[in-house]
Order: sequence, then structure tokens, then C-alpha cells
Amino acid sequence: MAERMLQFTHLPQRPPQKREVSDRQADFDEIYRRFDMQSATAQASRCSQCGIPFCSIHCPLSNNIPDWLKLTAEGRLEEAYELSSATNTFPEICGRICPQDRLCEGNCVIEKGFESVTIGAVERHITDTAFEQGWVKPIAPLQERAQSVGIIGAGPAGLAAAEALRSQGYQVSVYDRHDRVGGLLIYGIPGFKLEKEIVLRRWKWLADGGVKFILNTQIGGALKFSSLCAAHDAVLVATGVYKPREIAGPGAGLAGIVPALDYLITSNRKGLGDAVPDFDSGLLNAAGKRVVVIGGGDTAMDCVRTAVRQGAKSVTCLYRRDRQNMPGSLREVSNAEDEGVVFNWLAAPEAFLGDAKVTGVWATRMHLGLPDASGRQSVDPIEGSSFTIGADLVIKALGFDPEDIPVAFNEPSLRLTGWGTLKTDPKTFQTSLPGVFAAGDIVRGASLVVWAIRDGRDAAAAIHQFIQANAMAQAAE
Ligand code: FAD
Ligand code: SF4
Ligand code: SF4
Repeated sequence: MAERMLQFTHLPQRPPQKREVSDRQADFDEIYRRFDMQSATAQASRCSQCGIPFCSIHCPLSNNIPDWLKLTAEGRLEEAYELSSATNTFPEICGRICPQDRLCEGNCVIEKGFESVTIGAVERHITDTAFEQGWVKPIAPLQERAQSVGIIGAGPAGLAAAEALRSQGYQVSVYDRHDRVGGLLIYGIPGFKLEKEIVLRRWKWLADGGVKFILNTQIGGALKFSSLCAAHDAVLVATGVYKPREIAGPGAGLAGIVPALDYLITSNRKGLGDAVPDFDSGLLNAAGKRVVVIGGGDTAMDCVRTAVRQGAKSVTCLYRRDRQNMPGSLREVSNAEDEGVVFNWLAAPEAFLGDAKVTGVWATRMHLGLPDASGRQSVDPIEGSSFTIGADLVIKALGFDPEDIPVAFNEPSLRLTGWGTLKTDPKTFQTSLPGVFAAGDIVRGASLVVWAIRDGRDAAAAIHQFIQANAMAQAAE
């Protein structure tokens, strides 16, 4: 039925509809509506089935995109699901939150003048339908193995590894300091990008498949890292990066200047129905306030859009570079603009005004200078260009660094890279400590969900090899 493909010549790109801005501003539901079966089939049929699919090459998971698009176009959705889930542990999550414009879709080679295939939306449609149709079954290993693996961190890297190892029959325990599973998927990324039910559904799926979750347990705190290592045949560290980059300047310590993740976690907890005193007291609640968010990454975009939904009086984003040079997804910037956020490009804070509590930000205009050795342009202040923005809440979203894991785990033999991330062998995913592996942001630095999944899957394969090699060596003794 290959004749059903190549429809891009007469079928225009139709991404899933966005909800009306006025509706979006009033709740935390996802902003994109779902494809119906007909739209998914039609949009999948636009693919030209490239011999060398650049979409797949630029997908960190090397997803077999052309084949599952073809199966979708032919209405063979259950087979599309089997194929899609063979390379991606959480396709419905990546379909929602991957920056597709920079990955698969940005490299779709449909001829010039035509828009790319809506790969992410089709990927999401396939697995959402699979859940509804009951095609997604709990993990059922062919054999149970006696060996166990301890995973520290229930974010996408830890969960992807847990799935892969449990499928091989290992006894898998995932430890997390939080009370819910998902890492940044549950407490960082807001519901308007990824509804919480999608993450909770995967938690249940993993638990139904025999993955054990030990929550509210800080490794290096309530439970010693050495005790964890003694309890398992291998350990995977997938703890992410959480140390917020700080802001300097006079007044930086005023009340009302808060770290982005504290703000987002509070908002996400509120949405999940938890009692959140810092939200109710107004400390981490933007309602009625003039909000200034400092930063230009995904975290900053999530903060500005959360503030809109909380009923802020005004929301301004200050970023020292311009729109073209911001690290966040351009799709999210345009969504934020539609929702009423004002972007103040090429502007950086110099000082914060106020007595005890912040009342404003004293900022300076910047210009982009010559590129440095890495190719990134320098950013320099323009003399005499300072201005003030009134602010009742300032949110610092300047990025994250890794915490000092050897100190936190009281394990000095764990080696770090120059960036403070855990040093691993790129082939074996093993750290400097035998039997201890690492994956996700704690190795890569702040990155993407799709890379965390990729690393988790690869680390699981390396752990399997390590345990089997050890078992063979023991049998030979
Ligand atoms: P995490 O998701 O951070 O999970 C680590 C887990 O380890 C956490 O649950 C933590 O509680 C736990 N942990 C840490 N230390 C300990 C300890 N000592 N003991 C026990 N548990 C511990 N990426 C995208 O692809 N698309 C997006 O739209 C996107 N938006 C983002 C928005 C925000 C606000 C942020 C902060 C990030 C965003 N990212 C996005 C990046 C993405 O979320 C991360 O790259 C990804 O979650 C990393 O996965 P991970 O499993 O390595 O770590
Ligand atoms: Fe595209 Fe991400 Fe899906 Fe890969 S995982 S096909 S990059 S949306
Ligand atoms: Fe289809 Fe575009 Fe991928 Fe080519 S690059 S296989 S047209 S989705």
C-alpha cells in the first residue's frame, strides 16, 4: 500500500490544533488537542519514505520513523505501536515534549516549499491509542533472574533503564527522594506541556511489571550509598542536575526573588492536589503580581507560562541574548507570546530594587559581540542603556549544575568531569567505581528527556553485560 504515502505534494501540513488562548490561560491542561484517527492517517501519509531518513538519524533514539508512519497511514496502528515502542520507552512523552523542530521534524527532508511531517504528533497518537485499546501490556520477563539492580532516581533515565532491566528478568528497585515517580517529568515540566496523568500512567505500568519503587528516600541521607551498593549486583546513578545557577548583583538576596524549580515544583504539587503552604501563603504564587523571569531556556519558558496561568498581573522574560540565540524551544516562545508574555531580549539584570522585598529589576541593554572559540557570540552591556522594570516576584531560571555527588554520597572514589558531572566510560557507562553506572543529566549535564531515555536504555544494556560477565566468571571459578 506504499501508494498511500508521498501525499505531501497535495496534502498540507496540519499539526494538531491548539486550544484557544483564553482557555489555555485559565488552566494547566495540555495546549495541543489530539489527532483523530483520520488526521493521524492523513498526516502520516505525507511521508516520502526516504531511503536515508534524516528524521531517524536526528532522533536520539534512532526511531524507525518512516516505517511507523507508513503503518499508521495504512491504519495498522497496533503494529505501528509495536515498532515505535521497540526503540522508545515513552513514545507518548517524547511525542509531546521533544523539541521536534531541532530534532526529527527539523531534519525532515520533504522537498523545499513543503512543511515537515508532524512526526511527534503521530508518535504521541500511536501510543495514546495503544493505551486506550489495551495494547500496552505490563512487562512480562521470559525468565526471572536472581540478580538485582538498584537505580537512584525515578526520572526518565532511571525509568528507561528500569524497564529494560526488568524486561530481562532482573529484580529492579528504583529509589527516589520524592514521593512520586517521574523526576522532572512530574515536578519540573508543567501540565500544559505534559499532563500528569501521562506520567502517573507509566508509573503504574512499571509497578505492574514488577519494578519496585522505594520513594521518599534520599540516597546519601536516609539511606547510605554504600548500603545500596552492598544490597545490589549493580547500581545506576540517574539523579539529574538540580543545583540552580545563582544570580549576582546588589539586592539579589531580597525576598520575592526565587529559584525556578522551587516555583515550578510548588505549582506542579498544587496541580496534583497536594497541600502546598508556600503557594497558599503567596510566596511561590504569581497571582496578581508583576512577574519577571530571568533566563531563556525551557525552564524560563515554563515559568513565564505558569505565571500567566496563576493569574499574574504582568509577565516579562529578561534574556541577555536575542531570540535566535536562546537555548529554549522557539515553539514554546511563540506559545508564550500568544499567551501574553512580554520578551525583553538583549537585556540583563544589574541590581534588584526594594527594601526587604523586591519591587523592581534594574536592567541593562546588551549587544552581541564577536564569536568566541566555541562559536558563541559574546554579550556586552551597552553603556547608559539601563532601565527599570517593576516586579513583585522575580524568578531565577539561569540553568542547573550537578550537585557534588562524591560528597553527597560520601564516596570520594567517584570521579567527576571538569563540569562536575559524573565521569563514565562512554562505552560501558560505568563510573570509576566498579559495578556503579550512571546515565541521564548527571552524566550529560542539563539536557533533554529523549537523551535521558537513550542513556537509560544504553546503560541497562551495559549493566546486563556486566552482570552476565560476572556470573560467568563466578561459574568458572
Ligand atoms: P531527572 O528527571 O532530573 O530525575 C532525577 C531523579 O533523581 C529525580 O526524581 C530526583 O528526585 C532523584 N534524585 C536526585 N538525587 C537523589 C538522591 N540523592 N536520592 C534519591 N533520589 C534522588 N526536556 C525535554 O526534552 N523537553 C522539555 O520540554 C523539557 N522541559 C524542561 C523543563 C524544565 C523546567 C526542566 C528543569 C527541564 C526540562 N527538560 C525538558 C529537561 C529534562 O526534564 C531532563 O533532561 C530530564 O528529565 C533528565 O532526566 P534524568 O532522569 O537524568 O533526571
Ligand atoms: Fe522525534 Fe523525539 Fe520522537 Fe525522536 S523521540 S521521533 S526526536 S519526537
Ligand atoms: Fe518521511 Fe521526512 Fe523522515 Fe523522509 S525525513 S522518511 S519524509 S518523515
